[in-house]
Amino acid sequence: MVFENQINELDSIMFCFFGLTLKELEDVIAGTGKEKYRARQLYRWVYNKGIYDFSMMDNIPKSLRVLFSDMFDMETINLFESIASVDGSIKLSFHTKDGNIIESVLIPEKQRLTLCVSSQIGCRMACSFCVTGKIGFIRNLETHEIVEQIIGAKKFLNGSPESPWEKITNIVFMGMGEPLDNFENVMRAIEIMKEPLGLDFSKRRITVSTVGLLGGLKRLQPGTAGIAISLNAADEQKRTEIMPINRMYPIRDIMDFARHYKGSQRERITFEYVLLKGFNDSLEDAKMLYELLKGVRCKINLIPFNESPYSQFKTPDNKTVDQFHAYLIDKYMTAIVRNSRGPDVNAACGQLGMAYLVSKKTKAS
Ligand code: SAH
Repeated sequence: MVFENQINELDSIMFCFFGLTLKELEDVIAGTGKEKYRARQLYRWVYNKGIYDFSMMDNIPKSLRVLFSDMFDMETINLFESIASVDGSIKLSFHTKDGNIIESVLIPEKQRLTLCVSSQIGCRMACSFCVTGKIGFIRNLETHEIVEQIIGAKKFLNGSPESPWEKITNIVFMGMGEPLDNFENVMRAIEIMKEPLGLDFSKRRITVSTVGLLGGLKRLQPGTAGIAISLNAADEQKRTEIMPINRMYPIRDIMDFARHYKGSQRERITFEYVLLKGFNDSLEDAKMLYELLKGVRCKINLIPFNESPYSQFKTPDNKTVDQFHAYLIDKYMTAIVRNSRGPDVNAACGQLGMAYLVSKKTKAS
C-alpha cells in the first residue's frame, strides 16, 4: 500500500491534506486504526463547507481532531498578493514553501467564475510568444499545490465580502506550465476536484489546455475533463517556428488524434489559436485553419495576442481579428474570440510568471 511507510512513522510525518484523493485519505486514516468513514467527514468539512480548522469539526471526537491536526498540513502555499484588473479579473500570487511563486487568475464572465490554475513553475515548452516559456522549467507543482490554488481562491472570495461571487464554477489549466507534462499530479488534482463529496466539479467544468503532448492526450481517459489544444498555426513550418514542440508532435499527428477522439456528444475538442500580428492572422491563415479543421468536431478559440516586453509579437488590430473570425463563422465553424483577461496586471494568457523575468533582469543589471 502506498502509505504503509508513512503510517508506520506517523510521529514524524505530516500529510498534505490537499494532495490526497478520498480513497487515499481513507487509507491514511485506516492506517492509524481509526474508522475509514472519518475521511468522508473530513472531505465534507474541508471541501464542501470550507472549514479548515479541525477544532470546529463537531461531529468528530476531540481526540481525533487533535490527531488530525497533527497529521495533516492544511496550507502549503500562501497567498501574498491579489491584483484586480480593470476588466474584473484578479491575479492571485502564492508563495510555495520552497520560495517559488505560483500564479492563478480568477476570471468573472457573465454567469461563470473561472479559475485559471497553474500546473508547473515555469515551462519546458518554450513557445516563443509566451512569457512563462521564457522562464524555462523550474519544477512541477505537487497535487496539493494545484488543489490549494482553488482553496486559496475560495478563501480569498470569502474574505472579500464586497465580491458578488460566491462560487468558482469552472477550472481551466491555462496558467503557468504544460499540464500534460505533469501528468500524474494533474490527474490526481482533477480526481480531487471532481469528488462529489468534495469540490464536486463536473468534467464539463474542467478544461486541460495543452500544446498537444500526444502521449498524455492518449493516456487521458475520455470523460476526465475538457481538452483544449493550443494549435496557434495551421501550417507545420509556422507552428514549429513559434512552438518547438511541433517537431515532436506535428500538426498532422495532432489532427489524427483529434479525428479519432471519442468523446461523448458534448465533448468537442477546443482548438486555441493565438492571433499574432502579421504572422498567423491573415485571411490566407484563416483559410488554412478552416481546411485543417473542417469535418473535425471542434470549437475554435481565437485569442488576440497579449503583448509583453518579453516578446516581439504584437496584437492584431480589431478589424483583422474580426475578419479572421468572420471567415470561420462563414464556413459554419464554431469559433469565438476570447479576449484574454487582465492584461493590465499581467494576468492574461501567457503573461504569468513575469515576476521571474523581472527579478532575473534586475539581478543581471
Ligand atoms: N501549456 C498549455 C497551457 C498554458 S498556455 C497550453 O499551451 O495550452 C494557455 C493558452 O495561452 C495557450 O493557448 C497559449 O497558446 C496561450 N498564450 C500564451 N501566451 C499568450 C499570449 N501572450 N497572448 C495570448 N495567448 C497566449
